[in-house]
Amino acid sequence: MLRRTSVGHQRARIGNRGTVGMPVRSVLTYPDQRLRQVSTSVDSFDEQLMELVRDLEEIMYDSPGCTGIAAPQIGVPVRVVIVDASRNRKPVVNHGGMVLINPVVVEQEGEVIGREGCLSVPQFTGNVKRAKSIKMRAMARDGTPIELDTVDFEARLILHEIDHLDGILFLDRVSSLKTDIFRRKNLEMESSRTLLNRN
Ligand SMILES: [Zn+2]
Repeated sequence: MLRRTSVGHQRARIGNRGTVGMPVRSVLTYPDQRLRQVSTSVDSFDEQLMELVRDLEEIMYDSPGCTGIAAPQIGVPVRVVIVDASRNRKPVVNHGGMVLINPVVVEQEGEVIGREGCLSVPQFTGNVKRAKSIKMRAMARDGTPIELDTVDFEARLILHEIDHLDGILFLDRVSSLKTDIFRRKNLEMESSRTLLNRN
């Protein structure tokens, strides 16, 4: 696919795209230290942000079973995530595809343990305790405020993605590295069947 190139100091700050024809923004994997950065807030809804969002959407929708991705996962440490809980293999409460800019969880309630996967931790899944329900505030891609209440899988997904913005991986949240981490048995088979959701 032909892609635009752009230059300038903002490009250098927000983007890591190569020149036309080069692979575009691959997903960083554990233990890459760039996944540990705390991302900065977005203050400008400019073309570079739109390009970043399009790249994130492209990666998420091209990755079988993937329900969310955060900008730092492709090496851009800014507070942008996209989620689409409707891609879960099971029907779950969801608000469809969303771009969440500067997302903040303002309330959380309950505790549920659930299995999580992550594009940046491709070989493992883990049991992670999260809130059952959350209230979240963010901005849409055009800067419109979003306030959202959600539960269960979608709440977990949003919490997982916001963790990425603070340099936290699901591996950091398991109770026991011995009993709560599971090696994926067959990545190829799994991705073709989308047995587990990745985010
Ligand atoms: Zn993740």
